[in-house]
Order: sequence, then structure tokens, then C-alpha cells
Amino acid sequence: MIITKKSLGQNFLIDKEILKSIVNLTSIEGKSVLEIGPGTGNLTSLILEKKPKQFCVIEKDNDLAEKLINNFENKIKVINGDVLKIEENLLFSEKIKVFGNLPYNISTEILTKWITNLKDDFWFDCLILMFQKEVADRIIAKTNSSDYGRLTILSKWKLNIKKILDIKPVSFYPKPKVDSSLLVFTPKNDFYPIKNAKNLEKITRIFFNHRRKMLKKPFNQIFSGDQRILNKFKIDLNLRPQNLDLETYYKLTKEYENLRS
Ligand code: SAM
Repeated sequence: MIITKKSLGQNFLIDKEILKSIVNLTSIEGKSVLEIGPGTGNLTSLILEKKPKQFCVIEKDNDLAEKLINNFENKIKVINGDVLKIEENLLFSEKIKVFGNLPYNISTEILTKWITNLKDDFWFDCLILMFQKEVADRIIAKTNSSDYGRLTILSKWKLNIKKILDIKPVSFYPKPKVDSSLLVFTPKNDFYPIKNAKNLEKITRIFFNHRRKMLKKPFNQIFSGDQRILNKFKIDLNLRPQNLDLETYYKLTKEYENLRS
């Protein structure tokens, strides 16, 4: 009997069909794999059956990490640690596949960290990640929608994102209060050349600080009302932050960087 820890976002995926379909989303044989938050190892054992070349898992819960070490012996490398404190790009010397039914309380923090730390060369081939549906909706949102915002703009900057399916609480133990969604992220070959992701975060933070207000105030705050920039990017200051498309946010960030260099 497992006593689950709410503070660590422990909702274990128990639906066998969904677990199987997750490991069939990409080829694993002979590849290096990282799993975030393996928990009781439900997904872990299915990944192992697919014969990865190297397989490393990161689990924060000491008790579960010990069980994983006992259950899987030397077949996997168990890191008993916090994914937020680990330098993900240093774990393997080749590109890897990442799986994770993420702890929902830190799922956006994990994704944001990975994206802002990305260099031009990606350390992964794909990320196959489960989020709370409401967060997944914000990641994949379209311009002009109420879900569109900072997380959308940051996520779509360097990554292609595909939603695979929504999953009901009944597929987990214990049942979460919310629906979940599985997303697959793959690197974009061609992404907008922003020097520092922190600048994209800063620009979008200022713009979306008051998402119902018009663009005038944040624009003036960042660019001191520079008419030349308004004309260059054809921005209508009467619009709201959610009406500016992705490309415009990337271009504005680049302009901001140019002005400061
Ligand atoms: N993958 C398992 C499954 O689907 O059954 C468990 C998923 S559960 C939603 C999240 C897992 O992440 C838990 O096992 C939890 O202990 C672990 N976890 C929580 N915070 C973590 C952190 N900061 N770093 C690594 N693992 C963490």
C-alpha cells in the first residue's frame, strides 16, 4: 500500500492502455531516455521493455527512489533529487527522449526552466509530458484566445507542440481534481533569433501584466512610446496583449535587445 504525498504532486497513472500508448509515441530501442518523476515505476517498466540504451530517472521522493533502486536494480540509473536543481543538459552526452507525468505543482516551472536554459543545440529529441489540462491549454493556445499568454509565447518559440490526448482523473491514483493532457514537444529547426530567453520572459511579463488593458501602457513602459517601432511592427495600441501574434512578441524582444546592445 502506497501512501501518496500531495506536496509532491503524486497522482500515479494507472491506465494500462494509456501507459502503453505513451511509450509507443516514439522509438526507444537503442536510445537514451530520461524520465522525470517515475513514482511507482508504472511508465518506467514499459519504457524498459522497449530496450533503451541508457535510462535515467529523477525522483525527489526518497522512499520511492529507494523502491525504484530495489525494483529495477542496475537496469536504470536513479537520481534521488529535484529536477529543478539538476542541469538536464549534462546528464547525457547525446540527444535523449524525455518522458514525464509531471508533478502538476511545478510543471510550468520545469518547462520554463528547460526552455530558458536551451542553447542553440537541443539536448533532447522529444519531450513527452503530461500536464494539468488547463496548463496544456495555455501552452498550445492560439492568438486571440483567453488562454494565449506568456507560457504559449515562450513554449512555441523553440518547440513544435502537439497535443496527443486528454486524460480523465479516473486514469490516475489517487484521482486528481482536474483533467490532464499529454503533449509532445520537438525542437524547431528554425526559431526566431532572440539572444536571451530572459528578455522574452521580461517583455511578455510586462505586456501580460494587465491582460485586459490596451497595449499602450506596456508599450510605453518598454519602448518609451517610440513611434518608429509602432510603425515598423504595425502595432495598434488599442489592441490587447492577447491580440499580438507570436512573431510580433519575438520581434519586439529582438528590437528590445538591439536597443540595449
Ligand atoms: N510517473 C509516475 C506515474 O505516472 O505514475 C508518477 C507521476 S506523479 C504525477 C509525479 C512524480 O514526480 C511523483 O513520483 C513525485 O514524487 C515526483 N516529483 C515531485 N516533485 C519532483 C521534483 N521536484 N523532482 C523530481 N521528481 C519529483
